[in-house]
Amino acid sequence: MNASELLLWISVLIVLQLAVGIAMAARRKIPSSRSPPPPVEALPPTGAWSGWRDFLVAERSYEDRANTQCSFCLEPLDRAPLEPFKPGQFLTFSLPASDSIRSSASNGTITRCYSLSDCPGETSYRITVKRISAPAAAPQAPAGVASSYLHDRIQIGDVVKIRAPAGRFYLDTESPLPIVLVAGGIGITPMLSMLLWCANEQPQRSLHLYYGVRNGEDHAFKATLQSAAARFEHFKLCVAYSRPTPSDIPGADFHHAGRVDVNLIRATLPHGRHQFYVCGPRRQAICRLKFSILDDGDRGQC
Ligand SMILES: Cc1cc2nc3c(=O)[nH]c(=O)nc-3n(C[C@H](O)[C@H](O)[C@H](O)COP(=O)(O)OP(=O)(O)OC[C@H]3O[C@@H](n4cnc5c(N)ncnc54)[C@H](O)[C@@H]3O)c2cc1C
Repeated sequence: MNASELLLWISVLIVLQLAVGIAMAARRKIPSSRSPPPPVEALPPTGAWSGWRDFLVAERSYEDRANTQCSFCLEPLDRAPLEPFKPGQFLTFSLPASDSIRSSASNGTITRCYSLSDCPGETSYRITVKRISAPAAAPQAPAGVASSYLHDRIQIGDVVKIRAPAGRFYLDTESPLPIVLVAGGIGITPMLSMLLWCANEQPQRSLHLYYGVRNGEDHAFKATLQSAAARFEHFKLCVAYSRPTPSDIPGADFHHAGRVDVNLIRATLPHGRHQFYVCGPRRQAICRLKFSILDDGDRGQC
């Protein structure tokens, strides 16, 4: 083979290589007509989903004596497995806006978030909703729209639309550090999920729960919390009543008269590093507490 023949062969090979490359790139861009189209809103194997999914209300029950905090147990209508949520996460609800609901409702619906109040399971979710009345400063204002709707209208057998569990406020399950949960009022819901998960999965990990409510009327999940405190050696419960009534018994019903504050935590928490989780509806008080904990450098990290 002479030099010009060799050059010709090399050119042919280069052209062939280019042609194959172009053909492969084109194949990658154009989807094969034989491959089926991706299913819309198909459920991945974990049970996660996108958009709204229908859930049946399987149970409902009050968690406090005043009947202001109601739990709803929810089962997926399609019976497919549920997303294994992280303790502390919440569900988003789309509820129909009734006539009385303000025009801020878009598409005739209102959207609200509710924390999951039980530990992750495969067949059902639980949320617990506090009935919200008009603020003391504006007693003529309408009561909370979604919470009233859930309390007054949603019964066993009803169907509600829910988005998959979400949220970045969840328990760090990888850390060995002792846990401190601080809950104010209905802020107990994500904390209960964390506590129940820990009792099942990490019973050796130390966990302190500070739970502040007004008095025995508002004290939610009382039996569940007391039984967990009796069963789990490493779980310490401190319930604080800000306004105990004469029928509330110190030591039996509650441990501290007053609010949960940094002095109470300082006086009762063993020395050392802890992971703190703080949740409650009284934003300013909770914020102050959070910053106090952060200031108290040798004890806390939030
Ligand atoms: C991540 C997350 C998790 C949550 N988890 C929980 C949970 O586990 N449990 C729970 O109970 N809640 C939870 N919430 C709060 C919940 O989402 C709702 O905000 C709550 O139920 C109140 O909603 P609502 O529609 O009932 O009240 P809204 O209708 O939004 O009203 C709120 C307040 O405004 C007042 N108001 C209305 N109109 C006026 C007016 N014109 N003038 C003055 N005041 C007025 C109402 O009386 C009421 O006091 C969570 C929120 C978030 C963001």
